[in-house]
Amino acid sequence: MVKRIVVLGGGSGGTMTANRLGRQLGQEIKNGEVEVVLIANTDTHIYQPGYLFIAMNEKEPEHFIRKENRLVHRNVKLVFDDIVKIDKDQNVLHSAKQKYPYDYLVVSTGSHPDFNSVPGLKEGSDNFYTLDGAIKLRDKLANMTEGRILLTVDVPHKCPAAPLEIILMLDDYFRKKGVRDKVELKYTYPINRIHSLQPVADWAQPQFEKRNILSETFFNLEAVDPERKVAITMDGEEHPFDILISIPAHTGAPVIIDSRLGDEDGFIPTDRYSLKMEESDNVYVVGDATNLPISKAGSTAHYQTEVVVPNIINRIKGRPETARYSGKVACFLENSLEDASMITFDYNNPPAPATTSDLLHWFKSVYNELYWLNARGIL
Ligand SMILES: Cc1cc2nc3c(=O)[nH]c(=O)nc-3n(C[C@H](O)[C@H](O)[C@H](O)COP(=O)(O)OP(=O)(O)OC[C@H]3O[C@@H](n4cnc5c(N)ncnc54)[C@H](O)[C@@H]3O)c2cc1C
Repeated sequence: MVKRIVVLGGGSGGTMTANRLGRQLGQEIKNGEVEVVLIANTDTHIYQPGYLFIAMNEKEPEHFIRKENRLVHRNVKLVFDDIVKIDKDQNVLHSAKQKYPYDYLVVSTGSHPDFNSVPGLKEGSDNFYTLDGAIKLRDKLANMTEGRILLTVDVPHKCPAAPLEIILMLDDYFRKKGVRDKVELKYTYPINRIHSLQPVADWAQPQFEKRNILSETFFNLEAVDPERKVAITMDGEEHPFDILISIPAHTGAPVIIDSRLGDEDGFIPTDRYSLKMEESDNVYVVGDATNLPISKAGSTAHYQTEVVVPNIINRIKGRPETARYSGKVACFLENSLEDASMITFDYNNPPAPATTSDLLHWFKSVYNELYWLNARGIL
């Protein structure tokens, strides 16, 4: 009997996983013993870290977009469909058109910002967490020569470094434009420091002081008044803005919520080492879709495929699953448009930001190009 591995979600984690499986199980697929199916609900694959560089007008949007069918290895059967239910008891996925049975399932359905989480936020804010949002923000920033930019953050959200990065990049952006003294930059964060990871907060704080970036902690948004252009916090204070850049709380994919597989935010309870969905032996979770208390990042998805892929292959070949996820994450930290730091960490080792340098910014720029090899399962 052919063993069918279904990968759900054609973003970073799903595409890497399916391609790695397709490449490494080439012989078994050829022999008709294994089938690798990738189900994607869009043919547009966007490298999301590119949104930062689109907003800063450093790169055109097309630079970060590929057709999914050009990224997927020939050994992988790519299906475009929107899954509406995951039935883990019957080992089957349902779309409006069809059923997809599986022996092994890898869920990689990602996360997305919930712009309805705060009244007025959708109408009153800008963002760089969607393609349209990054393009609109780029145009607003290009026309701005004075005024107030307020940045708000809610949790959980993907790429925990991105809010810090954009405010530091904006400082450089307006300096280069010669109007930094006329543009107020105010960064806010919901807890008692400017980043959830203390070493990252310690790395950024001196930059804020040196570069006159205002900050406010314990800042929790209650509502936005788009007409008056004010953000209202839970303690009732009003904060005026000309541009409000907001990173709202994220939720998991609707299919996870509708299938009742997630926690209250739609993230799947996942074993932190095996990456199996809790109380399941044949459903694995990769990337933002997990409920793990680690950064939701493309690098996280990448390192997780290095666990899930060999474990599934071992099972298919009748060998034990021995790979374990260490919690590894790697993130660049852009400090301006020209230099950057970097952190790597895992469950046992906290991050220690590397010395900020031009070279690390260059590495990030190079990785932005190498990503496509990664997605293809080559790197
Ligand atoms: C501004 C920004 C900057 C970032 N910077 C970095 C960075 O520097 N470094 C880094 O490591 N990460 C970064 N990230 C985070 C990174 O992009 C995500 O963590 C990563 O894409 C997660 O991969 P994923 O596969 O879990 O989800 P995604 O890549 O979002 O893919 C999920 C896919 O599942 C599909 N899907 C969902 N539901 C269904 C369904 N029902 N049926 C079929 N398909 C479905 C979606 O359409 C999507 O294609 C950044 C993100 C943003 C927004």
